[in-house]
Amino acid sequence: MAEITLDNVAHSYIANPKNETDYALRLIDNIWKDGGAYALLGPSGCGKTTLLNIISGLLTPSKGRVLFDGKDVTGLPPEKRNISQVFQFPVLYDTMSVYDNLAFPLKNRGFNKIDIEKRVLEVAEILDLTDSLNKKAARLSADAKQKISLGRGLVRSDVAAILFDEPLTVIDPHLKWQLRCKLKQVHEQLKLTLLYVTHDQVEALTFADHVIVMYEGGIVQIGSPQELFENPSHKFVGYFIGSPGMNFLPCTLGGSHAMVGDIKIKLNDETAALGAAAKGKIELGIRPLYLQIHDTQVEGSLPAIVKSIEDHGNYKIVTVILGDNNILRARLPEGKHTPSEKAWLKFSKNWIRLFSNDILLKN
Ligand code: ATP
Repeated sequence: MAEITLDNVAHSYIANPKNETDYALRLIDNIWKDGGAYALLGPSGCGKTTLLNIISGLLTPSKGRVLFDGKDVTGLPPEKRNISQVFQFPVLYDTMSVYDNLAFPLKNRGFNKIDIEKRVLEVAEILDLTDSLNKKAARLSADAKQKISLGRGLVRSDVAAILFDEPLTVIDPHLKWQLRCKLKQVHEQLKLTLLYVTHDQVEALTFADHVIVMYEGGIVQIGSPQELFENPSHKFVGYFIGSPGMNFLPCTLGGSHAMVGDIKIKLNDETAALGAAAKGKIELGIRPLYLQIHDTQVEGSLPAIVKSIEDHGNYKIVTVILGDNNILRARLPEGKHTPSEKAWLKFSKNWIRLFSNDILLKN
């Protein structure tokens, strides 16, 4: 497996790009570690597939270089890059058995019979395909076929990286969850460099140890799921990660408080110090999980009007209006009394984040 370097890579589908908006992929300068599990996460059109195709060699970037373990592969076609790919839909031979489908990529590269058998059995075991090894692929369900495609992608340990392009799209929701966990297990057992494209945050957060969040052709943050949740470096990450996303309130800052209109919200010392030097458009961000909601007034709480309540079984999402039409969502744990019309909000001050011109203020 290899370390992947993106050395000042940018791509435009336009012949003579003039300004930033002409680029589908804006400047990307990054190193992705050997053996890492990376997820490329972002909304439709943010450039995920463009970046994946640049790494696989289907696309030559307009600018910059791609290096595998320090070797420049920018000009090499996919077949010369020694990578393995798994696509949205199954790619396999229907007339072959499951065993032969899994063995095919290894046979093709001249591996010996003993090594092939060892590896095929190992991958089949991980993906729960052992009982189906002698069956013809044609007789299997769409889910099982996609599992074979995943297996065909994982079977070679000599590749630089394995690239997955939304591979669970056709999979039944229940099996999706199982396969996500399997892929994580595969990564832990086989120590492969995995790159996984998805627009589904649950998929990215369960599978990857590094989530690369993309927005409008650029990378806005690379972090662990916890880092993205606790300290989103850009407002977009706060909004895109989490369900529902982070709440944002336009505010001004005054000493140890943020002022939302004439409402005072207390900040801790560290956040207040960060805010002291802040310029531009300032917003306060807080996750619904850290917005306590009470049905009676408690110390330091602010009155709000309940707009709606969504019941998710083991928790509720309460949408409230604070002050002059500021809409906020709070997560109410199971067992807590649900306010009906009026609620009292308390901001957990250690979880308040400040954003200046959409960027997180941090030390
Ligand atoms: P999705 O999740 O919908 O596949 P994505 O994040 O993978 O989206 P890309 O497919 O990389 O995004 O597209 C990035 C931008 O480049 C989009 O604005 C898209 O319209 C544009 N684009 C993609 N492929 C081409 C192409 N072959 N020619 C011109 N523009 C393209």
